[in-house]
Amino acid sequence: MSAAVAVVPGCVIHAAGDLRVEDVPVPRPGPGEALVAVRYGGVCGSDLHYWRHGGVGDFRLREPMLLGHEVVGTVVAYGSPDTPGPAAGTSVAVHPATPCGVCPECADGRRNVCRDTRYLGSAARFPHVQGGFAARIVVPAGQLRALPAGLGMRRAALAEPLSVALHAVRRAGDLSGRHVLVTGAGPIGCLVVAAAKAAGAAHVTVTDLLPAALEYARAAGADTLVRADDPQDANWPAEVDTAVEASGVAAGLDTCLRLVRRGGVVVQLGMLPPGPSPFAGNLLVSREIELRGAFRFDGEFDGALRLLAAEPAFDALVSAAVPVRDAASAFELAADRSRSCKVLLDFGAAPAA
Ligand code: ZN
Repeated sequence: MSAAVAVVPGCVIHAAGDLRVEDVPVPRPGPGEALVAVRYGGVCGSDLHYWRHGGVGDFRLREPMLLGHEVVGTVVAYGSPDTPGPAAGTSVAVHPATPCGVCPECADGRRNVCRDTRYLGSAARFPHVQGGFAARIVVPAGQLRALPAGLGMRRAALAEPLSVALHAVRRAGDLSGRHVLVTGAGPIGCLVVAAAKAAGAAHVTVTDLLPAALEYARAAGADTLVRADDPQDANWPAEVDTAVEASGVAAGLDTCLRLVRRGGVVVQLGMLPPGPSPFAGNLLVSREIELRGAFRFDGEFDGALRLLAAEPAFDALVSAAVPVRDAASAFELAADRSRSCKVLLDFGAAPAA
């Protein structure tokens, strides 16, 4: 078989509501690049936004794009034999970001908000950066991380969203002994629960509209569950030390501001809709609340892999691994939080090296 004509299945978004599984060419790695046989790709809320709305936040789709940035697989080959990286045949997770390294944010050590980063499967720049939802992808070798011993690929597929959660927790400051509120029990909210507990939080309270989502938060280590739409719920805390907003709706941010203690920290992690968002800004003033954003991550990726290797309980957050040919049903399942937490696309086992 000639490599020039080899094709593999890929999951391409063309426009809102127009998601296609297509044969895409197997790419050739250049110098400093690696060819990876993708095993699993986690479906993220941003993938769902591209599928439903043709964009996420202020990023709009302007050309067909391979989705996906939560990717694990096996190293196949490098473009040049002297490229440093895990040996062919090694199981790896792919760090989705390649910051520019020269902009003011990179110079300040805040590479996660690099103004010129390349992030897998993102329409933030044009041409878009193609994503990882294909059975073979090429990425810079520096983005590969060998999986720690004992960590299987299915759990390792949580490394990217767990890194997002670890970064949000880091933005929140010292959580040891604290009561932490998390609004929103989607996959990211659940991983924030686990990250907060790992950071020493004494108590984590989670709110969501859906009982099924709250049960996933319990599996992630939440101590108290609250129905967000029930003001009479006896589990509402009177006050919390720190809050992380992980629902991406303004009502969640408002809840955080009303419940955090005076002088406390609120981290906005969920991506709010484009345009202004209503919230009780007066409380920022009268209670001297610190409102901080959290966006993606940088060095947290390695810590996420270590945490996943050490904690089998994360398996409960992976609801299903759906063959890529059934991508449409995988996206439907991922969008239905009454039936799922994290849903993976399964690209199949790599051929023997
Ligand atoms: Zn930069």
